[in-house]
Amino acid sequence: MKRLKSVKQLSKLCCALFFIVLSMPVLKAQTGTGTLTKAQIEAALNEAYAKFKDLKEGKNADYIKELANVDPNIFGIALVTADGQVYTKGDVKSMVSIQSVSKVFVMAQVLEEMGPKALMDKIGVDATGMRFNSIVAVELQRGKEINPLVNPGAIAATSLVKGVDSAAKWKSIQDKMAEFAGRQLPINVPVYISEAGDNLRNQAIAHLLLAYGRMYFDPVQSTDIYTKQCAINVNALDLATMAATLSNGGVNPVTKKTVVSQKTVMETLPVMATAGLYDNSGIWLFNTGLPAKSGVGGGLLAVSPGKFGIAVVSPPLDAAGNSVKAQKVIEYVVEQLKVNPYWIVPKK
Ligand code: GLU
Repeated sequence: MKRLKSVKQLSKLCCALFFIVLSMPVLKAQTGTGTLTKAQIEAALNEAYAKFKDLKEGKNADYIKELANVDPNIFGIALVTADGQVYTKGDVKSMVSIQSVSKVFVMAQVLEEMGPKALMDKIGVDATGMRFNSIVAVELQRGKEINPLVNPGAIAATSLVKGVDSAAKWKSIQDKMAEFAGRQLPINVPVYISEAGDNLRNQAIAHLLLAYGRMYFDPVQSTDIYTKQCAINVNALDLATMAATLSNGGVNPVTKKTVVSQKTVMETLPVMATAGLYDNSGIWLFNTGLPAKSGVGGGLLAVSPGKFGIAVVSPPLDAAGNSVKAQKVIEYVVEQLKVNPYWIVPKK
């Protein structure tokens, strides 16, 4: 009090204290996303849900017969921040098979176990510019320059996962996937059986890779493990938690467990950015700027690095194989929250 020379100073101090107290709820409401507040995130999810819930475009995948039987009305949105706050809207309990989204996590596992050089030499990391299950892509390059997010690279990645036999490799994949999601994930047996009885094309791809010396375990067993990994069941919250683990540099923000290294995340996200949404990966990147991965089960996850993971489950797909509603919801949320990394506020 001695230092306060005048009443004027005292009133200044009171004003400052008043301002700090006033701004406290705002500070409290801020998430690990830096400038994003809870209110902003909730508003964006609520609006996106209301805006797109009645959209009827798209059709369930049916080339895996069991997928045609999945309820097309399942619609759930989940966002998990890099500091572990969870936001959900709609049906985040119903599960769908993870399908191609699993490729991201097996890729990350191979990076962890073997490093980027092995991944580049044995599989490749470049977009093929062709369909996700293209045999021509394998043939053209004699098995080179595919990437782990299209079927040939994904089956090769599965074949590279460490484990003395098929059962050990499968367990290792399932365990790693559980760490990403923060819980053990069940397998959708009807989907597995349905695809396993009908995956001659994937088996052909695996054999062609073998012919070019680019299959690293038995091709039939590798294809089978790959088919199982695609049949893992997830809901929107599982997918968002998995995305949030990538967003948080490899540490699951809910369980706080380190799942993969920062370096692995740094090397996984670019491949998601270039090859995550099938033939529409470029359009997706143009619209959102975010690394993402879709699957024909209707799941789509996207990563806002350092901020959050977001995921939507809605089975009807567009012609490229991406969930129609999921794309629209995430695009909307990205725009509302201004998290496209190429949205740059100029310094003046
Ligand atoms: N199991 C599916 C397949 O290999 C995954 C397809 C996908 O989601 O892209 O055909």
